[in-house]
Amino acid sequence: MEHYRRLGVAEEIRTLGLPDDYPPDVSYHTRYASHEIARLHWPSRRDALANRHAGDRRWPTPEPLHRGQEMFIEPVLKQHAESLPGVDIRFGWKVESISQDSTCARLFARDPASGELCEFEADYAVGCDGPRSLVREALGIRYEGTGSEDRDFLGGRMQATYVRAPAFYDVVPGGVAWQYWAMNPQRFGIMIAVDGKGEFVLHTQLPKGAQSSLEYGHESIALTTGGDFPYEIIGVAEWTAGFTLVAKNYGAGRIFIAGDAAHLFTPTSGQGYNTSVDDAANLGWKLAAACLGWGGPNLLATYEAERKPIGHRNTNFARSIADFFGRISMPQALEDSGPAGDACRAEFGQRLQELAWKEFDAPGIHFGMYYKDSSIVCTEPGEGPVDDPHHYVPHARPGARAPHLWISEG
Ligand SMILES: Cc1cc2nc3c(=O)[nH]c(=O)nc-3n(C[C@H](O)[C@H](O)[C@H](O)COP(=O)(O)OP(=O)(O)OC[C@H]3O[C@@H](n4cnc5c(N)ncnc54)[C@H](O)[C@@H]3O)c2cc1C
Repeated sequence: MEHYRRLGVAEEIRTLGLPDDYPPDVSYHTRYASHEIARLHWPSRRDALANRHAGDRRWPTPEPLHRGQEMFIEPVLKQHAESLPGVDIRFGWKVESISQDSTCARLFARDPASGELCEFEADYAVGCDGPRSLVREALGIRYEGTGSEDRDFLGGRMQATYVRAPAFYDVVPGGVAWQYWAMNPQRFGIMIAVDGKGEFVLHTQLPKGAQSSLEYGHESIALTTGGDFPYEIIGVAEWTAGFTLVAKNYGAGRIFIAGDAAHLFTPTSGQGYNTSVDDAANLGWKLAAACLGWGGPNLLATYEAERKPIGHRNTNFARSIADFFGRISMPQALEDSGPAGDACRAEFGQRLQELAWKEFDAPGIHFGMYYKDSSIVCTEPGEGPVDDPHHYVPHARPGARAPHLWISEG
């Protein structure tokens, strides 16, 4: 959101997603219609904005955390890019090959409408083309790390079931949330509110060898909810969890990679997109400097030197969270009625509460990046701050994010 603020689109993006007064809480349940066992409270957009001038000591930023689906955000970014002079967007075109020599990067792309294949030459090229990146492959760069972790949950093939279900809000006791976790011996699931009005995506693990299907979607909704309510499945899709991968290099010569082309996460803690936007912000000004002629010969190399360690840092953080949920042992009495069940849920809920805090309240991950070993950063004597995902200490050492401080008008 800070990067979007600089581009001038933060305000518009902040209007997208959940309604103004919708609390983006994370709640944990045995089944959605039964017991709520833990809840991480988080301020709504309205409250977060109203309080931002008071100065949040844990998240000191003019742009408080915002939750919005990419499908809402991408059109705003596209429209913004199209409004910039000198930017030529070829939406839907497909790059078929890319190469380079000492004078330029060269790529061939096809117009899906006419079938025409065009050649483009550029001083530099950046592949932001996702996990199956053609650009990364053309450069011969491999991912390093862990490629396919096997877990009971969040490790292997997953199904996303997209549902229209305003009545879901009526079956869940305990109030609205943004992420609803269901944890019972029959099925784990995460139901995520898309628009705060009745559209949700339910993520569940597929059994080994199974393919996504409507039937599995219906079964998952029944087992995670434990109660009847009217709903309609809009669609199902598969994705894979269990990646902790970072590209060995973030580019070669005149061609670079960024975003999922350079790293792949299990989406616990929501780091993939954030890390991707940060890559683009880091590379963007360096490419501009190179094109305008003031960057010097070594500036572009600092993109990999600065961002690759962050790729490892952030993917490992996400992995540590997924490990907890994927390997958790469920207490026997979790769904029992009576005092024994109540005590079991209270004890388990306490563990989940701590974990929710670990997963979602991580300002150090977002603000604590510190490029102290970069060749364009001068070293300062003395120890730097400890890199702690859960605590961000504002500091003004070279290579760190400049601390935020409101100054008075004028
Ligand atoms: C279930 C799930 C939940 C997630 N939740 C979060 C979250 O809460 N927070 C978070 O920060 N991240 C989250 N992520 C991760 C996030 O979605 C990705 O990190 C992010 O989308 C990466 O953006 P990208 O632009 O690098 O790649 P992509 O979004 O994959 O975009 C790549 C684009 O390149 C295009 N492309 C590919 N090949 C070509 C070609 N040859 N020619 C032209 N175009 C091409 C594709 O069509 C696509 O549009 C989640 C991921 C999943 C799967």
